[in-house]
Amino acid sequence: MPPSKRRRLRMSRPPVSYYRATVPKRTFGAPLRGRSEAAVCVVGGGFAGLNAALGLAERGVRDVVLLDAHQVGFGASGRNGGFVFGGFSRGEEALLRDLGHEQARALYAGTTDAVERIRARIDRYGIACERVEAGVLWANWFRDQGVLHDRRRLLAEHYGIDWQWVPEAELRERIHSTRYHDGLFEPHAFHFHPLKYAQGLADAAIGQGVTVHEHSAAIALERAGAGWRVRTPEGEVEARTVVLACGGYLAGLRRRVDAGVLPIATYVMVTEPLGARMGEILATGAAVYDTRFAFDYYRPLPDTRLLWGGRISILDRSPATVERLLVRDMRKVFPQLDGVRIDYAWSGLMSYARHQMPQIGELEPGLWLAQAFGGHGVAPTTFAGELLAGAIAEGDTRWRDFAGYGLVSALKPAGFLGAELSYWWAEARDAWKDSRERFAQA
Ligand SMILES: Cc1cc2nc3c(=O)[nH]c(=O)nc-3n(C[C@H](O)[C@H](O)[C@H](O)COP(=O)(O)OP(=O)(O)OC[C@H]3O[C@@H](n4cnc5c(N)ncnc54)[C@H](O)[C@@H]3O)c2cc1C
Repeated sequence: MPPSKRRRLRMSRPPVSYYRATVPKRTFGAPLRGRSEAAVCVVGGGFAGLNAALGLAERGVRDVVLLDAHQVGFGASGRNGGFVFGGFSRGEEALLRDLGHEQARALYAGTTDAVERIRARIDRYGIACERVEAGVLWANWFRDQGVLHDRRRLLAEHYGIDWQWVPEAELRERIHSTRYHDGLFEPHAFHFHPLKYAQGLADAAIGQGVTVHEHSAAIALERAGAGWRVRTPEGEVEARTVVLACGGYLAGLRRRVDAGVLPIATYVMVTEPLGARMGEILATGAAVYDTRFAFDYYRPLPDTRLLWGGRISILDRSPATVERLLVRDMRKVFPQLDGVRIDYAWSGLMSYARHQMPQIGELEPGLWLAQAFGGHGVAPTTFAGELLAGAIAEGDTRWRDFAGYGLVSALKPAGFLGAELSYWWAEARDAWKDSRERFAQA
């Protein structure tokens, strides 16, 4: 096929993710029609909403309805990199500064416990989600080892976590790229097919009595007696308790809630199956990211494709643009992959609060919120689901540990400009450090 025609075909490729293309077409529940009642109505079928619904069902609350405007896993939860590891978008050092040793350690432990809970749920509910138990490598883009030493020491001293040092020569044996110098290995992390996991959570919740309605956007939320009424285009649910969990896809139900987060896009692509060529770039099953602020993240998929992600932007770009940008990034690390075909490219929206921590709590009596998980949300959404389920079903007050990270305004639209500028600034700083090191080396 002539290149111009190939290019035209790519330009018109629909933004179907690899994940969506590799799950069977199925529905988890018809659109809501008419009136219904529930104990709890969860709005949003991403990991935050699904974990809250399943956590409630596991605690014996049978009468739970979950609404999604599109499909289960439509948002970030069904599009992400698939890294499952502890921590929050706000780094460990900042967390420690904010909260002090005891509280920071307790919050961080909530996320490492969540990693174990995800494993346990995969086993308990038999979720086939291509779990790869090969850990995560944090590869140093720079010669300066300070960043690795500092983080490793901080994690050990304050969080009781041991990341293993991987010397440069050993790292090169695992990742066949000259870009990196040393790395840290996080052995307890894993990676998986996030959409299969989201669908597995939905199946597990439905199996315990939760009712799911897809293609049922909540379009209004109002008081109804002691509880709430949630309206959708063709129906309504009356529930004593409502959970809002709409991430960067913004529910449009409460101005203050939407104002609390910036939806920020990040990009992913997947190569054609590499077969034996995978051996030219990786001799590890680990997922990898690097030490720059604007880092690349990638992982080998079980069918020998490479999933590659990176960049953050306020722009939700077309698949063709995502592919162009990410191929450039990939070639910098793996020139061996020059000419490899890209089969899928897509973007997804993360939700960021100004403080880069999740916003978890009760906004008004019976109205709960779980959003702002940023780019590090698989484990924290699981943690949040447990906190909300415990609070609603059992009066557990642990959610108050997040009280310091409230629903502050994200200062839109200036916040978008601020986010883009700080990204460019950090990117420029990393590029400057890189070129200085190369110059010193020459
Ligand atoms: C490309 C990408 C890569 C990432 N990689 C990783 C990673 O490797 N590891 C990691 O830990 N984190 C990663 N993250 C972050 C992580 O995916 C998110 O933090 C997490 O999935 C957020 O879950 P959520 O439930 O809050 O939101 P979402 O998954 O975005 O779900 C929100 C849902 O709400 C629904 N909704 C919105 N409005 C309404 C309404 N009015 N009525 C009904 N439903 C509504 C949407 O349809 C959507 O399904 C990544 C994110 C992206 C975008």
